[in-house]
Order: sequence, then C-alpha cells, then structure tokens
Amino acid sequence: MFAEIDVAVIGAGVIGLATAHEIAQGKKQVFVFEKNRTFGLETSSRNSEVIHAGIYYPEDSLKARLCVEGKNLLYDLCDRHNIACRKCGKIIVAADENETQWVEELYKQGRKNGVNDLALLSAAEVRRLEPNIEARAGLLSPSSGILDSHNLLSFLHNQAREKGAEFVFGTEVIGIERASAKYKVHIRDRDGISGFVAHVVVNCAGLNSDSIAELAGIDIAKSGYRLHYCKGEYFSLDSKYRNLTSRLIYPVPEQAGHGIHWRQALDGRVLLGPSAYYVEAIDYSVDENHKRCFYTSAKRFLPFVELEDLAPESAGIRPKLQGPGEDFRDFVIAHEEKAGFPGLINLIGIESPGLTAALAVARFVGRMTS
Ligand SMILES: Cc1cc2nc3c(=O)[nH]c(=O)nc-3n(C[C@H](O)[C@H](O)[C@H](O)COP(=O)(O)OP(=O)(O)OC[C@H]3O[C@@H](n4cnc5c(N)ncnc54)[C@H](O)[C@@H]3O)c2cc1C
Repeated sequence: MFAEIDVAVIGAGVIGLATAHEIAQGKKQVFVFEKNRTFGLETSSRNSEVIHAGIYYPEDSLKARLCVEGKNLLYDLCDRHNIACRKCGKIIVAADENETQWVEELYKQGRKNGVNDLALLSAAEVRRLEPNIEARAGLLSPSSGILDSHNLLSFLHNQAREKGAEFVFGTEVIGIERASAKYKVHIRDRDGISGFVAHVVVNCAGLNSDSIAELAGIDIAKSGYRLHYCKGEYFSLDSKYRNLTSRLIYPVPEQAGHGIHWRQALDGRVLLGPSAYYVEAIDYSVDENHKRCFYTSAKRFLPFVELEDLAPESAGIRPKLQGPGEDFRDFVIAHEEKAGFPGLINLIGIESPGLTAALAVARFVGRMTS
C-alpha cells in the first residue's frame, strides 16, 4: 500500500525550496525529494550569485517578467531577513566601436522589460564611475547586485520547513506512473526502492528535469524539452585586485551566456567568469588551459589584469533548452494538463536568471497548484 501525499516537489535547489515554501503556505502537505544529502548542492550553489536586473531577455518572456518581479521580491526578502546582499549596480561595457550598438540595443531591451533605471554612459562617464575600466561606452544598471546564495538557500529551507514542508534527502526519484488522477512516485534511498502516491508532482530537478519529465511519460523530443549542458568556469584573481571597481563589470553578452564578467563576491574574492561551452556530461573540474582565454576576454576592458594572477576556481553547468547555435529559448514552466498529465508541473531549462527569479517562479507555480 502506497502512502498518499498532496504535493511532491522533486529537487531542493533554489527553485524547489522556494516552490515548496510557496505551496506549503497554501496549507497543502508538501514533500521535497532530493537525491543529494542536503539542499542546494548543484547549480544553485555553482553560479555568479548576481541579482540580474532583467535586461537581456525578449519582452514578455518568462525570463524577463520573472527576473524583474523576482529581483524586487529578492531584495525585499534580503532586506527583511538579513540575507547578505548588495545592490552594487553593474556596467555593461562596449570595448570597441562595434559593441556600442549592442549596448544601445540592451538599453532599449531593458526599458521594454520594465528596467527603468538604466543609463547609457559615454567613455568619460564610465571612467568617472569606474576609473580602472577601459570602455568606449557603457550601460549602467543600478538595480543589479550580488547576494550570498548559501544564505538564501538556508533561509528558504528553514522557511519552507516552518510552513510544514517535509524534506527527504538522499532520495532519488526513479519512476513516475500515472494512476488515474494521481501519480505513483518511485524512489530509491539507502534502504532500497519504495514509493508513494502524490496528487501533484512538481519537477524542479534542474539538470535532470528533462529526464524526470520523460519518466512521467512526456515525449521530450516532441515537446522540445531536451536539455543541453552548457558549462561555465570561473577563475579567481589575486587578492591585490580587491576593491578596484565598485560595480559588477560585464562585457556585451555572448550567444550562450552573459559573457565573462568581473565580480567581487560578498566575501571579497574577485572572480572572472563564467565561460560558456556545451558539454556532454556533468563534470565540475576547471580546465587550467582555459586561463589564457579568460585573460584575453578580461583584458579588453580590465587592462590591469595579469595572466599569472588567475587561478582556477569553480564551475557550474547551465541546464539549457537552447542548443549550440540555436535561438533564444524561454523557461518552461508548464502544467501538463493538455498533454494528458493533470497535476504534473514541469520546470525545465531554468538557467540564468533562475536564482534572481526564484521567488517569482515559485509564485507562478503556486498559482498553478492552488
Ligand atoms: C555558471 C552559472 C552561472 C549562473 N549565474 C547566475 C546568476 O548570476 N544569477 C542568476 O539569477 N542565475 C544564475 N544562474 C542560474 C541559476 O543558478 C539557476 O537558474 C538556478 O540555480 C536553478 O535552480 P534549480 O533549483 O532549478 O536547480 P538546481 O540547483 O540544480 O537543483 C535541482 C535539484 O534537483 C535534484 N535532483 C535532480 N534529479 C533528481 C531526482 N531524480 N530525484 C531527486 N532529486 C533530484 C538535484 O540534486 C538538485 O539538487 C547561473 C547558472 C550557472 C550554471
């Protein structure tokens, strides 16, 4: 006999944690199943910790809307609960004449997305704000910032538990079977294989979210849900580089990422990254041979950087729906009722700005389950 629960959330990254809290607030009984020994050990702790303003994404996309909404919710949450964050602002720099038109395009895009505090900067204005940076022009985004993602994750975990969500760590979801209006969820933990019945299943499984959808019976090729892994590495810089800028400094974006940027984390570490290249398997090692490429990218707008001061730091993997050379793909946040799976909610391709958008994503999913 299978035990019965209201809602099963699969995955305890920032999206699963925020979603579990949101649903538990509505007095539903929520269980979160996480294959790792605790929450937040995958993409949610392997990112830039940047609170994005919402500039880059097409108007009305979920990425644009949920980023702008999520940013405001996140600053408010950090403020009310002492979660470490700093609204330091950011400058996207045009390193040469060709890039100035991209900066202007980003300005227009950001305005369309409701980011109303952006300002275009001349070379002299960039120099006045950030004397150590070299640029032909720039785009100032005052509402961008950084946060301590570990602090946020543990806050969200505690908050969800306080509302009654139960966390089941070290438990991998290995099968999902439709059983009339419910789902039989099969799990594997250290005691073996068992299962339970859930009325609603919310798939927040990050890099495995396409496989989870497939387990449930969705044709992921037909639905366009197959994920591509896109790796991003970081290199750290020597401590002598601390406090050389007061803002985040970004180049104009690349096809698959926001570009290798300069960031001083809240703990003072100065970091360059992330790069963006597609990989077949999950491997978080940093290839030291990529050091020169980081150096060359950074040197275009950070003239003071020296090659010998870079050291491999960490890496993360983006769960991207957009394959190499393909066009923009939005987040998938879908109640699969029309596909014949009422009560199954898939969140797939939750790459950047997923950390920024997490609280807004959770509200969005909350409305689907109420
Ligand atoms: C290099 C990089 C830089 C980024 N920078 C930023 C940034 O600066 N700002 C920003 O807003 N966003 C950024 N992002 C995006 C952000 O990190 C992600 O959008 C966000 O962390 C996604 O959270 P998640 O909960 O969906 O995924 P995850 O954190 O990966 O959580 C998914 C969880 O599901 C669990 N799971 C998977 N399969 C199963 C299973 N079968 N059973 C049980 N559990 C399972 C996993 O163990 C994992 O804990 C960046 C991402 C990368 C890779």
